[in-house]
Amino acid sequence: MTTAEALHKYFGYREFRHEQEAIISHVLNQKDALVLMPTGGGKSICYQLPAVIMPGLTVVISPLIALMKDQVDALNINGIKAAFLNSSQADNEQREIIKQLKANEIKLLYLAPERLFSAENKLIDFLKTLHVSLIAIDEAHCISHWGHDFRPEYLMLAGLKTAFPTLPVIALTATADQITRKDILDKLQLHHPAQFVSSFDRKNIYYQVSPKKKSFDQLLKFLDQYPQDSGIIYCLSRQSTEKLAEDLRNEGFSAKAYHAGLDKKTKDQNQEAFLRDEVKIMVATIAFGMGINKSNVRFVVHMDLPKNIEGYYQETGRAGRDGLPSNALLFYSYGDALKLQGFARVEGNEAQSQIMLKKLDDMVRFCQLQTCRRQFLLQYFDEKAAPDCGACDVCLSDFEKIDGTTIAQKALSAVARLNESFGVTYVIDLLRGSQNEKIREQHKQLKTYGIGADISKADWQQYIRELIAQDYLQSVGDPYPILKLTTKSEHVLKGKQNVQLTQSQTIHQKQTAEIIPYEAGLLIELKATRLAIATREDVPAYIILSDATLLEMATYLPQNIAELKQISGFGDVKIERYGKPFEQTIKAYCMHHQLTSRIGQKSPKRERKPKTIRIGTQTETYNLYKAGMNITEIATVRSLSPMTIESHLCRFIQTGELDVFELVPNAKLPAIKDAAESYGYEKIAPLKEVLGDNYSYTEIKAVIAWMQRAAVI
Ligand code: ADP
Ligand code: ZN
Repeated sequence: MTTAEALHKYFGYREFRHEQEAIISHVLNQKDALVLMPTGGGKSICYQLPAVIMPGLTVVISPLIALMKDQVDALNINGIKAAFLNSSQADNEQREIIKQLKANEIKLLYLAPERLFSAENKLIDFLKTLHVSLIAIDEAHCISHWGHDFRPEYLMLAGLKTAFPTLPVIALTATADQITRKDILDKLQLHHPAQFVSSFDRKNIYYQVSPKKKSFDQLLKFLDQYPQDSGIIYCLSRQSTEKLAEDLRNEGFSAKAYHAGLDKKTKDQNQEAFLRDEVKIMVATIAFGMGINKSNVRFVVHMDLPKNIEGYYQETGRAGRDGLPSNALLFYSYGDALKLQGFARVEGNEAQSQIMLKKLDDMVRFCQLQTCRRQFLLQYFDEKAAPDCGACDVCLSDFEKIDGTTIAQKALSAVARLNESFGVTYVIDLLRGSQNEKIREQHKQLKTYGIGADISKADWQQYIRELIAQDYLQSVGDPYPILKLTTKSEHVLKGKQNVQLTQSQTIHQKQTAEIIPYEAGLLIELKATRLAIATREDVPAYIILSDATLLEMATYLPQNIAELKQISGFGDVKIERYGKPFEQTIKAYCMHHQLTSRIGQKSPKRERKPKTIRIGTQTETYNLYKAGMNITEIATVRSLSPMTIESHLCRFIQTGELDVFELVPNAKLPAIKDAAESYGYEKIAPLKEVLGDNYSYTEIKAVIAWMQRAAVI
């Protein structure tokens, strides 16, 4: 069997990604390798595929016991015999695995490093008696102090080459700079290893940064796009994860919190529920995510500023491992940056503080970019990148230039009046006429006090940054930089020089997303089919088939097993085990909707790479409603919460396409309107309290939507 055939048979993929093919053939030639690939790049196949081809056993070293089960389940479902040995298993279970190992029945064995070498349960001698073909070391950066996740037990792996001098070793990691890389090679004592460094570009992730204003409302709006999808929301503090998870639950979302302060049981339960799609949103500190293999994470949100680019990239990288379009959203505020500056200072360690502050500064620069964010990220990791990726918020926005001469004059004269002795925050407060007591009394008498009150704080920050970038101002001094004039300032102040600035907040979408026609109703049914199988087999749904595979089926409507084989992700074993129920679901749907196979439209060689899956989810709800279904029925059919359905319908009330009286009895409207007018309509809960049990949340929301349309408030 060729490697390509094995790839299709066992994993259902037609093409290798990145350098998988070269890596695999290198390993099959018994040579050592170091593999660097971004998260979701497809590292596992680099040793799993050789493992099925090679005659003996492949030993996989992995740091996280909790994740071994998932990987082993996934392999077994693909028809590859795999097992793990760890302390969570009962004795008889372990004995059974040992027996199978002796009989050479197992192709891959997962182990934690300490299991190999530590005094009790030492396995290395036993492994020597077996026919071992390959050793794979996952998360290899854990061996280095320079990596971000050093694990002392990994140091024991230095003994591997002594124990198995002739066996090929493949070390894999998603994060390793030059020193870490060298360290890995030295410590593992790899023999003339080849290094395979893939591009770290995650093409299917869309990067965006939003100014943090009312972040919860901003978040809800963002989540509207993802009524049924999984995502991770990162917060800085443990407390805020719990609070946000609760607020989201109150809005009808399925959300749980995860942080290092929770007891182990809660953590495990929440993680498991997330992996199994029982909980859609994980609100977590950065304690969550290492090694999470869930492939269908559609979005990662950072509510607070991450401390450095490395962490940010790692965390956003957890989105879209299945290759489908995914979204990384970060809420940025200058206040967050200031807060983190405080944390970054390490008492008594100036050198360390400087490094941390520099890293934070890069993070802030990323947020403030007016050039392609992907380019910045890739350059940060020493990779060349084109200046326009077409898939980040900057590339998709037109930044309109405005004549900023007056704005610049205001800012420069404030700096001048303050004798060039204050920082950005003070200057902005002065410009905006802040009542803040920190503003000295004598400064409140200045002519410039309050001349920029019409411009928001965030906008001022952006303008001043631009003025610095254009050299009309400079920011000097550390750790408390102050604003100073430059030689160019005078021309502006004297009106001899015009200044161009970027119009803030004007984001026009340049490109509209490409819509791939697929059967949304069928996709829902396929998910149900998958869930039934996953429940029966007691594994997370994505282990059965990825969302990408379901989406392909819903697009190309394969009618028989031969056609199913053309769907990416459906390997022979999976077709044999699960092909039938999916085939039936598709056929029944097609029959009912008078559709036929579209498999002919699928180019046979290339794996389809859909650009985006923007579902007209609100329209779908609206159509069902118009077709006579009520909210509960729609919620059931669409597997959404009634709350979500309501919010969809309210959109149409707001646009005037749906009559408010469809959802609210005539008699009730005036009272709701009254209450909203007197108490405000930002928060629904207090209104509900005022109005009492006779008025439902739906009715209140609908009236508010109607009021917003009619602009009566
Ligand atoms: P990593 O370990 O590098 O983070 P994984 O090995 O978990 O990534 O792979 C990420 C996802 O990509 C998995 O769902 C995997 O099945 C899929 N994948 C891997 N290789 C290919 C390929 N050649 N074609 C399509 N999908 C692939
Ligand atoms: Zn870009």
